[in-house]
Amino acid sequence: MKASAVIAYIGLGANLGDAAGNVTRALARLGKLPQTELRAQSSLFCTAPVDADGDDYVNAVAQITTQLAPLELLRELQTVENDFGRERPYVNAPRTLDLDILLYGDRIIASDELVVPHPRLAERAFALIPLLQLDPLIAIPGKGPAHVFVPAVAGQGIRQIGK
Ligand code: ADP
Ligand code: MG
Repeated sequence: MKASAVIAYIGLGANLGDAAGNVTRALARLGKLPQTELRAQSSLFCTAPVDADGDDYVNAVAQITTQLAPLELLRELQTVENDFGRERPYVNAPRTLDLDILLYGDRIIASDELVVPHPRLAERAFALIPLLQLDPLIAIPGKGPAHVFVPAVAGQGIRQIGK
């Protein structure tokens, strides 16, 4: 029997090469993952790097439904990152594409490979603001309503690109 579908949220980021193009193409690619549908995508946002160097980032969040287990989803996302030429020369290096699992249903996961909800979700405007655009009432499992964390990230530069 097939597992039932879970709603998951994927954070996308890029600040190398055609960052906006990469994020846009990656959003379309998420809809083609096995056992997965792209349900909604946020606007693209432009954000200043946090604890990192390089150009400004382009970020977005996607809402998907998936029957993939969390680690299967992570592997699929890593394959997409690699297809976009992702290299990891050092921590927080500029990247052609970063795909992070922000939320996976109401699951709380803490393994060496995968931590969900994403540990920096509540602290990073580039993840929190696009997520709230998709669902203003969404809660972060273990933490409560996501909008509560907005004032704390208000100092982080983030600007919506287009609509
Ligand atoms: P960054 O932390 O800057 O996104 P990477 O994209 O290189 O860095 O990811 C480093 C590792 O983070 C991955 O190999 C993966 O195993 C781990 N990881 C832990 N939790 C998550 C998550 N929620 N989403 C994506 N990767 C995660
Ligand atoms: Mg990542």
